[in-house]
Amino acid sequence: MRSEQIEWESPMYRLAVSQLDQTAVRMGLDENIWERLRSPQRAHVVSFPFRRDDYDTVETVVGYRVQHLLTMGPTKGGVRYDLDVDLGQVTALAIWMTWKCAIMGLPFGGAKGGVRINPRELSATELQRITRRYTAEIIEVIGPDRDIPAPDLGTNEQVMSWIMDTYSQQKGFSVPGVVTGKPIEIGGSQGRREATGRGVISCAIEACRERGIRLEDVSLAVQGYGQVGSTAARIASHLGTRVVAISDVSGGVFNEKGLDLDAVDTWLGLHGSLAGFGGGDAVTNTELLTLPCDVLVPAAIQNQITEDNADQLRCQILVEGANGPTSLEADAILTGRGIAVVPDILANAGGVTVSYFEWVQGLQKLFWTEEEVNDRLITLMQRAYRDVSELARREGVGLRTAALMRGIGRVAEAKRRRGIFP
Ligand code: NAD
Repeated sequence: MRSEQIEWESPMYRLAVSQLDQTAVRMGLDENIWERLRSPQRAHVVSFPFRRDDYDTVETVVGYRVQHLLTMGPTKGGVRYDLDVDLGQVTALAIWMTWKCAIMGLPFGGAKGGVRINPRELSATELQRITRRYTAEIIEVIGPDRDIPAPDLGTNEQVMSWIMDTYSQQKGFSVPGVVTGKPIEIGGSQGRREATGRGVISCAIEACRERGIRLEDVSLAVQGYGQVGSTAARIASHLGTRVVAISDVSGGVFNEKGLDLDAVDTWLGLHGSLAGFGGGDAVTNTELLTLPCDVLVPAAIQNQITEDNADQLRCQILVEGANGPTSLEADAILTGRGIAVVPDILANAGGVTVSYFEWVQGLQKLFWTEEEVNDRLITLMQRAYRDVSELARREGVGLRTAALMRGIGRVAEAKRRRGIFP
């Protein structure tokens, strides 16, 4: 008997499950395991009040923490503050985290959390109150051996510090291992902030190398100049790449000759957004995706490349920094056009990989240098990329299908070995 899964219904969940279903068919995956992997093991929905700064107004918001798979060890995944957050979206992101950790060989299952707010409309003190209350609401299901949050869209090191502090206050002693992506001063890892962007560029280098292209010779466009996108652009630029376009939520800027990223950062420091930056032609976020460039990195939000614009992309290689930026239909169009797509579950796995390093360093109370962290990250990213690429060649499939096969395959084997309780 198969029961209908309606709880998680949302476009992103449908994308994650369609990817699983297609891959499961191709792999001949055990049907019982397949069915189990389609829904999360635990999903927590909370609603809670917080005071606005005027102290009189109280608003109630909704938050989630979803744990997809508890088979591999503790669960791991970011916390997202965004108005689009819903149960289906958080579930899809938790599912992708499971594959991501398995592809990288990390001892975690996937999780994700989020609060449905617009962080840009809230003050730092309001965000702090929301974060502390959200942490209190999910405190029983997180912990260094249970489920370890990290930053994602709309959250950062400061939010992680508040989660860590709230958790520690309740336990009565400091528990740095409850989150990763913390500031260095409270047990964060060197290189964590840049890790996802660095991993994105490691994948871009590998994809270029396979095509006989040097990164020095490519032009790069990045949608979303946030934590992931800005570091990817910076690292690529240090390696000699021409960064021709970037954007944020307010829109983007294009300069065929290459943007001056120092000037961009100075502008952002003064104005907080790219709007009005004069170092190139203004473009919209939609236009940015179809600009001429060799490598395109979507690093903002989901569902940006769809059947409506996939035939207009002009890049050779698409490296997915964001989670779920490409729809299933667009994926097929891009593959048909010979555009290489390095999928999110591989391309943006650098973040969780250094989060894993942070967790390990915290457990051992032994901290590594930035060079050690970066070297280990690049080694693991290269190993994962080459493993997935080799599988893709052997099976005659694209990188996304190969990455899914690797991730799902490892998880399925672990489930088979552990068996079913009781
Ligand atoms: P961030 O909040 O630091 O940056 C997001 C960027 O996207 C900002 O420049 C923002 O202005 C822009 N943006 C937001 N909404 C937009 C919209 N509607 N249209 C266009 N641009 C928009 O977030 P981040 O941590 O850099 O995460 C970006 C993406 O990378 C997300 O999809 C996230 O899930 C994924 N990701 C992040 C990490 C990480 O370590 N931070 C790890 C893996 C994946």
